[in-house]
Order: sequence, then structure tokens, then C-alpha cells
Amino acid sequence: MNKLAVLIPFFLLLALGEWWLTYKSRPGQYTKENTLLNICIGAIDRILSLASFALFIFALKLAYDNFRLFTPAITWYHWVLAYIAVDFVSYWYHRFSHRIAILWCGHVTHHSSDHFNLTNGFRTSPFQGLNRIPFWIILPVLGFSPAVLLTTFIISGLYDFFLHTQNFPKVRWLELFFITPSLHKVHHGKNDVYIDKNYGSTFVIWDRMFGTFQDETVPVSYGILSADYRDGDPVDAIFHHYKYLWTLMSRSISWKSKLKVLIMPPDYLPEDLKSDETAAAIHFPAPDRQKTVYAIALFASSGCGIITLLMCEQIVSVLHFCLYAGFFLTGMIAATRIFNQRSGPSLRRNEIVRNLFFVAAFGGVFLFLEDARNQLLYGISLSFILAIWSLNLMREEQAEVRSDPANRS
Ligand SMILES: [Zn+2]
Repeated sequence: MNKLAVLIPFFLLLALGEWWLTYKSRPGQYTKENTLLNICIGAIDRILSLASFALFIFALKLAYDNFRLFTPAITWYHWVLAYIAVDFVSYWYHRFSHRIAILWCGHVTHHSSDHFNLTNGFRTSPFQGLNRIPFWIILPVLGFSPAVLLTTFIISGLYDFFLHTQNFPKVRWLELFFITPSLHKVHHGKNDVYIDKNYGSTFVIWDRMFGTFQDETVPVSYGILSADYRDGDPVDAIFHHYKYLWTLMSRSISWKSKLKVLIMPPDYLPEDLKSDETAAAIHFPAPDRQKTVYAIALFASSGCGIITLLMCEQIVSVLHFCLYAGFFLTGMIAATRIFNQRSGPSLRRNEIVRNLFFVAAFGGVFLFLEDARNQLLYGISLSFILAIWSLNLMREEQAEVRSDPANRS
């Protein structure tokens, strides 16, 4: 069993607790749409990052076994040094991620929410796991073993998760040494004064040393400055800035400009741009009751499925894992799109095709592969039930259009 996956329900409960404690005193801090979107992005990241994490471990081991400069004894101060070194590299990785456009593509997902709460901690792009490998690789070269580093990353990651809250009081003396939730709020602000500030993870010293420290002085406005982005679609949240860079590169005339688009800061615009033909995101009316009930069932079954799959990751075959991961992730994405008004008139067709595809895929594997057939029965039955249920999705919408002529536009 994957022990870290057991923590997922614990983190979800913490977020539920924060919502419960604040929904009256701080209305608007949590919204259903934003919370489900953050959970969905987190689920995509957890599943896809299994591959980049394996590559990450391989790179750490390779560097440690073949290129390490020192072999220090594992003492208590070695652990302290490891934590400080990880925090230092993390500061620079984070700073480059904000100032180099191609790295920003992998980090922007964490920043593009207009809300700030514990579920922001779930909101990470699977590309971040790949982008950080060249930075982290220096640590095993300096003699920090992969085992020491992994433990340090987990502790540092836990600290980082708890920074995403507006419900921790400002404690001045703590801010002399540590990044606090108040200082991290600043990092998520799009106010002029807060842009590119407070990159630190645990220690505040790097921001103070390298001139990026900013105290919380005015109320924070959360989100990013991209005018054409509106949060709501999990796939768009992960790929939006890649698409934006691709558009800029296609519109740039010289190769020098195309290259600069990738490595300059994210707000860089080449001088030789052709005319802009980008399309704005389309939003549809709020889902009716039929779609909402379908989306709730889809999100809940996909969420339970993903948690179970992550816990059992080591005992299922790669084929079974990929099949279930594809089924649950596409289900959760479809449900999140419904909640966030990103599903259009083709929802019914898309859902029938998606569910029938998985009926065929699960059924095909069931028929042609002998091993672990009972694991497939859940997938076959659930995708079959959802395929039948999908047939109902259009009826309510047609009734609505007929009964309300204003909707015909
Ligand atoms: Zn950041």
C-alpha cells in the first residue's frame, strides 16, 4: 500500500474543517466550483506525477551513485543541513519558475486560482515534477542521499501545504525566521506590490538576502494577471500557458523572438508579432438539476476511485492502473467542467462516447487477458451505468430551451 496516498483523505478532511470553521465568518473564501476544481487538478497531478516521480528518484540515485563530491556521515546536523540546502534550492527553483516563461507554464496552475485556502495546496501541475529535476539534482551531487532528501521533501511539502490559509494570525517574530501563511498570501497576490515576492518555502532568510521580501501591507487580490484566462477547466488550468506560449511563438516572425518567448519572463511580448487571433474561453449557463446530480455522482465515484487506485498502486498491473486512471480522471474532469459551467451542448454526446469507450476498453481487457479479471468488473459496471445515465443528460436542457425562449440566443 502507498503510505503517502493514505494522507489524501486526511488533507481533504483538513480542508473540510477549514471550510466548516470559516464559511460563516469568511464567506467566499471557499466556493464549491473552485474547491472541486482544485481537487480535480490535484488528482490529475497525483496520477500523472507517479511517472515523473519515478524519473526524479532515478535521477537522484544516478547523481548520488556516480557524481557525488562528498560522503558525509548521517548525523543530526546533516539532516539540518539537508533541510537548509533543500530550502535554498527550492527558493531558486521557485524564483526561476516565475521569471522564465517555459517554467512558469508548469507553475502557473498553482497561482491561477482567484481564491486562497488549503485546497490551493492540491493545485499543482504534473509538469512541475519534471521542471524541478535539473534544480534538485545538485543536492545528491553535494552528498545528500536520496533517502535523506525524500524525507526532507515530505517535511518541507507538509509545511508548504499549511501555508495556504488565511486563518493563521500574523505573528511578527515568526516572520523573522520563517515563511508564514501571511507572507505566502503575499506570494499569491496579483497586486503590483506583491508580484514576484516571497519565494521562500520554509525559511524567510533567502527572500531577505536576495531582495524579494515583501510584508503584507494591503489586502491581497488573488490570481494571475493573464487577461484571457478564466479559472474553471482543470485541463485548461494545466495547459493554458503552454497554449499561450505556442500562440506567441506562432505569431512571432523571427526565430530569435520564438526562442525568447520561451526563456524570457512570462509577460514578455516579442516586437515582431503578427495580429492576434486568440479565442476567449466559452462559458455556458449553470447546470440544471439533472446535470448537477450526474456531476456529483461522477465526481464522488471518480474521487473514491482515484484515492483507492493511489493506495493500491503497487498491487495492480500497469494496464489496469492506466485504464482506471484514464476512466476516473476523465470522469472527474467532466464533472468539474459541469460544475464550472464549461460543458456545452455536446456534453451528452461526449459523456456517452467516453463511458462507452471505457465499457469497451474494460470489456476488451476482461475478455482477452486472463489475469485479475475480478478487478475489471467494477470498471465495466460503473462505466456501463454512467453510459446509460448519460442518455438522460440532454432531456432537461431541451425542456429548458423550449420553456424559456430567452435561452435560445
Ligand atoms: Zn509561486
